[in-house]
Amino acid sequence: MTSSADTDQGGGMPVTASGGGIAAPLLAWFDRHGRHDLPWQQDITPYRVWISEIMLQQTQVSTVIPYFERFMARFPDVAALANAHEDDVLHHWTGLGYYARARNLLRAARRVQEEHGGEFPRTLEGLCALPGIGRSTAGAVLAIAGGTRAPILDGNVKRVLTRLHAIEGDPTQSATLSALWDLADTLTPAERCADYTQAIMDLGATLCTRSRPACPLCPLAEACVARAEGTPTRYPARKRSRRLPERRCGMLVIRNDAGEFLLEKRPSPGIWGGLWSFPEIGADDDAASACEYIAGEAPLTVQRGTPFRHTFSHFHLDITPVHLAVPGLIGHVLEDQRLAWYKPGQRALGLAAPVKKLIDALS
Ligand code: SF4
Repeated sequence: MTSSADTDQGGGMPVTASGGGIAAPLLAWFDRHGRHDLPWQQDITPYRVWISEIMLQQTQVSTVIPYFERFMARFPDVAALANAHEDDVLHHWTGLGYYARARNLLRAARRVQEEHGGEFPRTLEGLCALPGIGRSTAGAVLAIAGGTRAPILDGNVKRVLTRLHAIEGDPTQSATLSALWDLADTLTPAERCADYTQAIMDLGATLCTRSRPACPLCPLAEACVARAEGTPTRYPARKRSRRLPERRCGMLVIRNDAGEFLLEKRPSPGIWGGLWSFPEIGADDDAASACEYIAGEAPLTVQRGTPFRHTFSHFHLDITPVHLAVPGLIGHVLEDQRLAWYKPGQRALGLAAPVKKLIDALS
């Protein structure tokens, strides 16, 4: 990271925001101030870059680091991931959210293993044909792991480019997105593609931040139209915020004498698809009857817990946990692959975030 004394602009070279003029000052800044010791910057392979890029979508570096390290310890290469059980992969993703990413990782690893002999495709088209890999992720894999000239356009880069050129449009709209891809392509140099890719992501993550861009420290300040206008945080245009709908549900926290919880595997695709959760009922449904139907025995006790809210990108879910005690182990549910008795710490399962929270609180 830069200090307040480090205000050089990349050796004082002239900077323009068009015609590829940002690479030299950006790389000079990166050499001095960029991040070089992140775990995925060591032992670089397409597999490690790919995993890190997927984890970093919607998630900050500091959060990703321990997840990345645990994931690599368990699944060190694409063959290990391809051979993994989905529950194990989701277990290593528990808490990162957006679980479709983890399911797609597994599907893509199996495709790489089966269709490409364990080697990642070396073309944009080949990578983009794999589940969950878009143009920006493919570009990052090609550039960082292969040194190939391929532009990227993740959230950080979108923010830098919209400010650099004072692009007014909403980046989620296709016309703006297309203009941004053209700009990203124009600015990406032919040399040092891996460093340039890392550098522009670093600039967005460390200096050109969403609410407090550090323009006086920025190597692109001279070229930046938004800085010249004095209103960098106007860019990128924000989506008009809309009020999220609210939904309600009950969760059956069924526990037996052995301290095990009855969990249900969520259907995939869908909310928390493939993860294990407490059986869900309507907010006003009769929990005791539902428990008897699912577990095969009437509960000994029923206690409604305090409702809490879990917010998804597109709605709020108000959850009321209902605690139910059932006698002993109930055999028939164990035969159903969608139901399982779960003892915390004894088995690696991917848990939905509110479920993990409730189990942690109760254990
Ligand atoms: S000058 Fe400021 S707004 Fe412009 S790219 Fe640099 S940090 Fe971002």
